[in-house]
Amino acid sequence: YLALDKIPTWRQHVNNTAPEEEEEHPISLCDKVSLYKGDITILEVDAIVNAANSSLLGGGGVDGCIHRAAGHFLYEECRSLNGCDTGSAKLTCGYDLPAKYVIHTVGPIARGTVGPSQSRDLRSCYETSLRLMEENKLHSVAFPCISTGIYGFPNEPAAVIALRTVRDWLKENTDEVDRVIFCVFLETDYEIYKRKMSDFFSPG
Ligand code: ADP
Repeated sequence: YLALDKIPTWRQHVNNTAPEEEEEHPISLCDKVSLYKGDITILEVDAIVNAANSSLLGGGGVDGCIHRAAGHFLYEECRSLNGCDTGSAKLTCGYDLPAKYVIHTVGPIARGTVGPSQSRDLRSCYETSLRLMEENKLHSVAFPCISTGIYGFPNEPAAVIALRTVRDWLKENTDEVDRVIFCVFLETDYEIYKRKMSDFFSPG
C-alpha cells in the first residue's frame, strides 16, 4: 500500500524534494495535487475513482482491477445501486482496498473523436466525483484517466479537462481538500500530465 504522506505533491515533484523535507511556504494549489504513475488500487487515500460503465457491475481496465482488489462485497454493493448515468457518480465502500471508499463514475464513450457533449460529460465526471467527496467529508482522492482506455477519449484533451476541472474545484474548496492525485497508468499519459500540470498548478 502507498500512504498519502509518501506520495509527493506537485510542488515536491517539481522541486525534487522528498515529502519529509518539506519547507515552509504559503499553501498553494500545487501543494494539493500529485501526479502518480501506477496502480490505483494500492493507494491509501479516502477515495479512489473508478472509471466504471453504466451497469456498475464491473468490466475491463481499471474497473476490473478495482473489483478484483476490493473483492466480492464491492460487486454486491454495486448491484444494489441500479447503475449510473454517464457523467454522474456513486459512492461505495472500499472493502479490501486500502482506500476507504470508491467513487464510481461513468465516462463518455468517445471512440477517438470528441464533441461538446463528450467534453461536458467528462468534466461532469470529475465535478460530480469531487462533489461526492465533499458531501461525504473525504479529503483525499485519486483519479484514473477516465474514458481514455476502452472508451477512446483522446488522451491529451482528456488530461486538459481533468486538470482544468480539478484546478477550478480546488480554487473554490482549497481548505476542505488535502490531496487530489492524478493516477496515470501509461507512459503516454504520464508524459502528457507532466507537460501540462504546470499550466494549471505552478509552484510560486
Ligand atoms: P474507460 O472505459 O473509462 O476508458 P479504462 O479502464 O479502459 O476506462 O481506462 C482508463 C484508464 O485507466 C486508462 O489510462 C488505463 O490505462 C488505466 N488503468 C488500467 N488499469 C489501471 C490501474 N490498475 N490503475 C490505474 N489506472 C489503470
